[in-house]
Amino acid sequence: MDTKWIRIENPQAPKEEELQAAARVIREGGLVAFPTETVYGLGANALDEEAARKIYAAKGRPSDNPLIAHIASLKGLEPLVTDVSKVGKELAQAFWPGPLTLVFPKSGLVPYGTTGGLDTVAIRMPSDPVAKGVIALAGVPVAAPSANRSGRPSPTTARHVWQDMEGRIDMLLDGGQVGIGLESTIVDVTGTIPVLLRPGAVTMEMLEAVVGAVEVDPAIQGPLTAGMPPKAPGMKYRHYAPKAELTLVEGAEEAVVSKVNQLAKEKLAAGFRVGILGTEETRGRYPHGIVRSVGARGQEEAIAHNLFAILREFDDLQVEYIFSESFSQDHLGQAIMNRLTKAAGYRKVQV
Ligand code: AMP
Ligand code: MG
Repeated sequence: MDTKWIRIENPQAPKEEELQAAARVIREGGLVAFPTETVYGLGANALDEEAARKIYAAKGRPSDNPLIAHIASLKGLEPLVTDVSKVGKELAQAFWPGPLTLVFPKSGLVPYGTTGGLDTVAIRMPSDPVAKGVIALAGVPVAAPSANRSGRPSPTTARHVWQDMEGRIDMLLDGGQVGIGLESTIVDVTGTIPVLLRPGAVTMEMLEAVVGAVEVDPAIQGPLTAGMPPKAPGMKYRHYAPKAELTLVEGAEEAVVSKVNQLAKEKLAAGFRVGILGTEETRGRYPHGIVRSVGARGQEEAIAHNLFAILREFDDLQVEYIFSESFSQDHLGQAIMNRLTKAAGYRKVQV
């Protein structure tokens, strides 16, 4: 199929006529990629099982990995769920519209084709003006997983989406670079104590400030062991991954720099292409390999924003091994380390 690339002139204030065609495609059961404040999403009518099936096919995604339904206003929530818990209400009030996805018990309106067979549904109200506009004009909840081929790093620019989806979707709305660069925080609010299923820009600290105690799903900390059922089904799949084998190096700065240099030299000597993911503080101390700075330490927003683009750039440069520094687990660092650890398939070297 021919994919239409539509550039939005001013993504902060899109005109209705720029979004009408995309809304129509979604209403008619097609696929439209559009920017959100987190990453680019691949949108389809969340109430149409056939449209959901097209999303899985375009992404090459296993169909038991559920989709997030995006709504444009609080009015859109009620028909999709059977119950909104007290903590669910508090978190929605505090962080919607924004980068927080909440998991509720689903109503009969939401097909199992959208939820991967689950009796719960994940819902988010994005703040991005293009996303919000398209969803409102479509007049239906919009299932919108990240607009990448399954297993690839999530797209943060229209070009990333094009690389993965050209010919596989009806339309791409180009709203420039996204703001945050990591997927939404996911919190299960079906019980009395909320459970963090995926860290994101709404941090643990921010959640706890609103609802007090928050539990953390074990799958966030490490690989799932056999027999441990994943609460967020996406957790069982390799995710956010570049094509290269990525290794995280953890420890004090000096020791990390010299270990990364040693590992890089070994692979370079064996004839491989090597990428190094460093920081503003350390980039000058890596004499070998393709060196990229993900940002300055302490500027976590910038690191989050740059991470996936750099992993994709390493793919484009056909890097075979990546050695990466590690970051603190505080605040946004938890989400950054979660994505990096998964991209590394939990491969870590401690120095
Ligand atoms: P993506 O849209 O690519 O950011 O991924 C969506 C992720 O949301 C999935 O991989 C799941 O981990 C999670 N998710 C979606 N629906 C549910 C649900 N009903 N319960 C738990 N997790 C969900
Ligand atoms: Mg994804």
